[in-house]
Amino acid sequence: MTTVTVVEKILSANDRLAEQNRARLDLAGIFGLNIMAAPGAGKTSTILRTIKALTPQITIGVVEGDTAAVTIDADKVIAAGMPAVQINTGGECHLDAVMLSGALTQLPLDQIDLLIVENVGNLICPAAFSLGTHANVLISSVAEGDDKPYKYPNIYRGIDALIINKIDLLPYVEYNLDYFRRGVELLNPGVATFPISCRTGEGVDSWVQWLLGKVGK
Ligand code: MG
Ligand code: ZN
Repeated sequence: MTTVTVVEKILSANDRLAEQNRARLDLAGIFGLNIMAAPGAGKTSTILRTIKALTPQITIGVVEGDTAAVTIDADKVIAAGMPAVQINTGGECHLDAVMLSGALTQLPLDQIDLLIVENVGNLICPAAFSLGTHANVLISSVAEGDDKPYKYPNIYRGIDALIINKIDLLPYVEYNLDYFRRGVELLNPGVATFPISCRTGEGVDSWVQWLLGKVGK
Protein backbone atom coordinates (compact mmCIF):
# COMPACT_ATOMS: atom_id res chain seq x y z
CA MET A 1 0.00 0.00 0.00
CA THR A 2 1.41 3.38 -0.89
CA THR A 3 1.70 6.16 1.65
CA VAL A 4 -0.88 8.21 -0.21
CA THR A 5 -3.43 5.37 0.07
CA VAL A 6 -2.84 5.02 3.84
CA VAL A 7 -3.40 8.76 4.33
CA GLU A 8 -6.59 8.60 2.28
CA LYS A 9 -7.89 5.71 4.40
CA ILE A 10 -7.18 7.58 7.66
CA LEU A 11 -8.97 10.67 6.35
CA SER A 12 -12.02 8.74 5.15
CA ALA A 13 -12.29 6.92 8.52
CA ASN A 14 -12.10 10.33 10.17
CA ASP A 15 -14.82 11.69 7.88
CA ARG A 16 -17.17 8.85 8.76
CA LEU A 17 -16.74 9.51 12.48
CA ALA A 18 -17.14 13.25 11.86
CA GLU A 19 -20.53 12.49 10.31
CA GLN A 20 -21.51 10.60 13.48
CA ASN A 21 -20.42 13.57 15.61
CA ARG A 22 -22.52 15.85 13.43
CA ALA A 23 -25.54 13.59 13.85
CA ARG A 24 -25.11 13.63 17.64
CA LEU A 25 -24.94 17.43 17.68
CA ASP A 26 -27.96 17.73 15.38
CA LEU A 27 -29.97 15.34 17.55
CA ALA A 28 -29.19 17.46 20.63
CA GLY A 29 -29.98 20.70 18.76
CA ILE A 30 -26.43 21.98 19.15
CA PHE A 31 -24.55 24.24 16.73
CA GLY A 32 -20.88 23.20 16.65
CA LEU A 33 -18.03 25.59 15.97
CA ASN A 34 -14.40 24.61 15.32
CA ILE A 35 -11.95 27.39 16.16
CA MET A 36 -8.51 27.17 14.60
CA ALA A 37 -5.51 29.49 14.94
CA ALA A 38 -1.79 29.66 15.53
CA PRO A 39 -0.68 29.45 19.18
CA GLY A 40 -1.22 32.78 20.94
CA ALA A 41 -3.73 34.24 18.46
CA GLY A 42 -6.35 34.51 21.18
CA LYS A 43 -8.57 31.43 20.81
CA THR A 44 -9.34 31.07 24.51
CA SER A 45 -9.66 34.85 24.94
CA THR A 46 -12.18 34.97 22.09
CA ILE A 47 -14.13 32.08 23.63
CA LEU A 48 -14.20 33.84 27.00
CA ARG A 49 -15.36 37.10 25.37
CA THR A 50 -18.06 35.16 23.51
CA ILE A 51 -19.24 33.49 26.72
CA LYS A 52 -19.38 36.87 28.46
CA ALA A 53 -21.45 38.35 25.64
CA LEU A 54 -23.92 35.44 25.45
CA THR A 55 -24.45 34.65 29.14
CA PRO A 56 -27.19 33.90 30.18
CA GLN A 57 -28.88 33.90 26.74
CA ILE A 58 -27.36 30.61 25.63
CA THR A 59 -25.36 27.79 27.17
CA ILE A 60 -21.98 27.17 25.60
CA GLY A 61 -20.06 23.93 25.98
CA VAL A 62 -16.34 24.08 25.25
CA VAL A 63 -13.85 21.42 24.19
CA GLU A 64 -10.25 22.47 24.73
CA GLY A 65 -7.62 20.74 22.62
CA ASP A 66 -4.07 20.85 23.94
CA THR A 67 -0.94 18.89 23.15
CA ALA A 68 -0.03 18.63 26.84
CA ALA A 69 -1.89 17.57 29.97
CA VAL A 70 -2.60 21.11 31.12
CA THR A 71 -6.11 22.29 31.97
CA ILE A 72 -5.32 26.03 31.98
CA ASP A 73 -7.81 26.89 29.19
CA ALA A 74 -10.56 24.53 30.35
CA ASP A 75 -10.25 25.91 33.89
CA LYS A 76 -10.82 29.44 32.57
CA VAL A 77 -14.01 28.36 30.79
CA ILE A 78 -15.30 26.54 33.87
CA ALA A 79 -14.51 29.64 35.96
CA ALA A 80 -16.67 31.59 33.48
CA GLY A 81 -19.55 29.27 34.36
CA MET A 82 -19.70 26.99 31.32
CA PRO A 83 -19.07 23.25 30.96
CA ALA A 84 -15.67 22.39 29.47
CA VAL A 85 -13.72 19.27 28.63
CA GLN A 86 -9.99 19.07 28.06
CA ILE A 87 -8.58 16.85 25.31
CA ASN A 88 -4.91 16.03 25.73
CA THR A 89 -3.76 15.00 22.26
CA GLY A 90 -0.57 13.44 23.65
CA GLY A 91 1.61 15.54 21.38
CA GLU A 92 -0.57 15.34 18.25
CA CYS A 93 -0.73 18.73 16.57
CA HIS A 94 -4.46 18.70 15.68
CA LEU A 95 -7.81 17.37 16.88
CA ASP A 96 -9.63 14.64 14.98
CA ALA A 97 -13.16 13.25 14.99
CA VAL A 98 -12.25 10.38 17.36
CA MET A 99 -11.02 12.82 20.00
CA LEU A 100 -14.13 14.99 19.68
CA SER A 101 -16.35 11.92 19.89
CA GLY A 102 -14.78 11.03 23.25
CA ALA A 103 -15.17 14.59 24.53
CA LEU A 104 -18.86 14.71 23.58
CA THR A 105 -19.62 11.84 25.97
CA GLN A 106 -18.31 14.00 28.84
CA LEU A 107 -20.51 17.05 28.18
CA PRO A 108 -24.15 17.65 29.20
CA LEU A 109 -25.33 17.82 25.57
CA ASP A 110 -28.99 18.24 26.52
CA GLN A 111 -28.16 21.56 28.22
CA ILE A 112 -25.91 23.01 25.52
CA ASP A 113 -26.97 25.33 22.65
CA LEU A 114 -23.54 26.03 21.20
CA LEU A 115 -20.44 23.82 21.25
CA ILE A 116 -17.13 25.58 20.72
CA VAL A 117 -14.12 23.39 19.97
CA GLU A 118 -10.75 25.05 20.50
CA ASN A 119 -8.42 23.18 18.17
CA VAL A 120 -4.69 22.78 18.81
CA GLY A 121 -2.71 25.91 17.93
CA ASN A 122 -1.51 25.10 14.41
CA LEU A 123 -2.16 26.48 10.91
CA ILE A 124 -1.52 23.29 8.93
CA CYS A 125 -3.26 20.00 9.74
CA PRO A 126 -6.34 21.13 11.74
CA ALA A 127 -7.65 22.20 8.31
CA ALA A 128 -7.42 18.60 7.01
CA PHE A 129 -9.41 16.84 9.76
CA SER A 130 -13.18 17.32 9.86
CA LEU A 131 -14.59 17.12 13.37
CA GLY A 132 -18.30 17.12 12.56
CA THR A 133 -18.84 20.71 13.66
CA HIS A 134 -21.08 22.98 11.55
CA ALA A 135 -18.67 25.86 10.95
CA ASN A 136 -14.94 26.53 10.89
CA VAL A 137 -13.58 29.79 12.22
CA LEU A 138 -9.99 30.97 11.94
CA ILE A 139 -8.50 33.56 14.26
CA SER A 140 -5.50 35.44 12.89
CA SER A 141 -3.91 38.05 15.11
CA VAL A 142 -2.28 41.27 14.00
CA ALA A 143 0.83 40.26 15.98
CA GLU A 144 1.41 37.29 13.63
CA GLY A 145 1.96 39.50 10.57
CA ASP A 146 -0.04 40.35 7.45
CA ASP A 147 1.44 37.61 5.21
CA LYS A 148 -0.30 34.61 6.76
CA PRO A 149 -2.98 34.04 4.04
CA TYR A 150 -0.18 33.88 1.47
CA LYS A 151 1.89 31.43 3.55
CA TYR A 152 -0.90 29.17 4.90
CA PRO A 153 -3.51 29.25 2.10
CA ASN A 154 -5.23 25.92 2.85
CA ILE A 155 -6.62 26.88 6.23
CA TYR A 156 -8.08 30.10 4.77
CA ARG A 157 -9.88 28.22 2.00
CA GLY A 158 -12.01 26.06 4.30
CA ILE A 159 -13.33 28.61 6.79
CA ASP A 160 -16.80 30.08 7.27
CA ALA A 161 -15.65 33.11 9.24
CA LEU A 162 -12.41 34.91 9.98
CA ILE A 163 -11.61 36.82 13.15
CA ILE A 164 -8.74 39.32 13.02
CA ASN A 165 -7.76 39.69 16.67
CA LYS A 166 -5.57 42.19 18.53
CA ILE A 167 -6.54 45.14 16.32
CA ASP A 168 -5.65 47.38 19.27
CA LEU A 169 -2.01 46.62 18.31
CA LEU A 170 -2.36 48.06 14.76
CA PRO A 171 -0.68 51.40 15.65
CA TYR A 172 2.35 49.57 17.08
CA VAL A 173 3.18 46.87 14.52
CA GLU A 174 4.13 46.62 10.84
CA TYR A 175 0.84 45.28 9.54
CA ASN A 176 -0.98 46.20 6.35
CA LEU A 177 -4.62 45.25 6.87
CA ASP A 178 -5.46 45.81 3.16
CA TYR A 179 -2.65 43.46 2.07
CA PHE A 180 -3.85 40.83 4.55
CA ARG A 181 -7.48 41.12 3.40
CA ARG A 182 -6.52 40.99 -0.30
CA GLY A 183 -4.79 37.67 0.38
CA VAL A 184 -7.88 36.32 2.13
CA GLU A 185 -10.16 37.52 -0.68
CA LEU A 186 -8.16 35.54 -3.27
CA LEU A 187 -8.59 32.32 -1.26
CA ASN A 188 -12.08 32.72 0.19
CA PRO A 189 -14.02 35.52 -1.54
CA GLY A 190 -16.54 37.29 0.66
CA VAL A 191 -15.81 35.29 3.83
CA ALA A 192 -17.41 36.89 6.90
CA THR A 193 -14.59 38.82 8.59
CA PHE A 194 -14.58 40.31 12.08
CA PRO A 195 -11.75 42.59 13.22
CA ILE A 196 -11.81 42.50 17.03
CA SER A 197 -9.80 43.17 20.14
CA CYS A 198 -10.32 40.73 22.97
CA ARG A 199 -8.41 43.15 25.20
CA THR A 200 -10.68 46.18 24.65
CA GLY A 201 -13.82 44.37 23.44
CA GLU A 202 -13.91 46.36 20.16
CA GLY A 203 -15.71 44.51 17.35
CA VAL A 204 -16.85 41.63 19.56
CA ASP A 205 -20.53 42.57 19.11
CA SER A 206 -20.49 41.99 15.34
CA TRP A 207 -18.85 38.60 15.78
CA VAL A 208 -21.37 37.58 18.43
CA GLN A 209 -24.30 38.69 16.25
CA TRP A 210 -23.02 36.55 13.36
CA LEU A 211 -22.67 33.60 15.71
CA LEU A 212 -26.13 34.07 17.20
CA GLY A 213 -27.57 34.00 13.68
CA LYS A 214 -25.93 30.61 13.17
CA VAL A 215 -27.06 29.20 16.51
CA GLY A 216 -30.57 30.34 15.72
CA LYS A 217 -31.48 31.47 19.25
MG1 MG B 1 -6.05 28.44 24.31
ZN1 ZN C 1 -1.47 17.72 13.18
